[in-house]
Amino acid sequence: MKGLFNLREIPIVKINEIVSEALSFKKGEKSVSYLDKKMATLFFENSTRTHYSFIAAMLNLNITPVQVNLEGSSMKKGESLYDTIKMFECAGYDGVVVRHTKDNYYSELTGINMPIFNGGDGISDHPTQTLLDLTTIYEEFGYFKGLKICIIGDISHSRVAHGDAEIMKRLGMKVSICGPQEFLDDTAPSMSPDEAVKESDIIMLLRVQFERHEKNMGLSLTEYHQKFGLTKSRALKMNEGAIIMHPAPLNRGVEIANEVVECKKSRIFAQMTNGVFTRMAVIYMVLEGML
Ligand code: ASP
Repeated sequence: MKGLFNLREIPIVKINEIVSEALSFKKGEKSVSYLDKKMATLFFENSTRTHYSFIAAMLNLNITPVQVNLEGSSMKKGESLYDTIKMFECAGYDGVVVRHTKDNYYSELTGINMPIFNGGDGISDHPTQTLLDLTTIYEEFGYFKGLKICIIGDISHSRVAHGDAEIMKRLGMKVSICGPQEFLDDTAPSMSPDEAVKESDIIMLLRVQFERHEKNMGLSLTEYHQKFGLTKSRALKMNEGAIIMHPAPLNRGVEIANEVVECKKSRIFAQMTNGVFTRMAVIYMVLEGML
């Protein structure tokens, strides 16, 4: 299948190439135009950043974006995901971006010849988020090997934590996790929030993903903020040169204090900007057969 599904089988040289193409687009060193192409976006789960930065990336590449209104699609009449996506291929679309609640939804799509870009599947992967995180880290530090990152929050329900940790370990970064016991899994060794802020080059915060929970969280939001949030006082204990990241959406006052969101160490909004250039790089490399 053509496109981008997860990063597990993508060699490190290619990952570095995507980051470097993204930064070339960002610096204006590269411009590409696909005036005759059109791509569709199918989001079966809510999205602001991924959806609209994919659209911005398409517009920057002169690709015509088409946002599919799933409420008005024939899936409501029982059509399968495969048949729905096959229709876009038959109608001459040059690619689709799909976000789905189901892990590995794309395993049902073998037989589709048009590129598919995974905009996030269940709790498994969110490859363009992971790549934009890498672009942001590389832009900041200029290397990956040896950097220490601690991902703090609802790890077990997070496709960002799972996808990021896998490739970061392959890149030689030291990954650890932190959060309430009920949200920890075997993604990486865990540490306390106070150790995390002292030891890390990167603190990555995650939202508590209530929509994926089967039972209520054991802590109130205020307790969560005190115990695991990046409070102002914890942020002040971070190393010089260390940065704060978050895939967003943010819950200010829960996983991150309002005053910390735009502090000097925060790269949260830079991640959103880099998301557009990273998605441009991914679309370009897939359309050119480089990925
Ligand atoms: N936007 C990210 C995702 O789609 C993170 C989140 O929703 O918390 O997984």
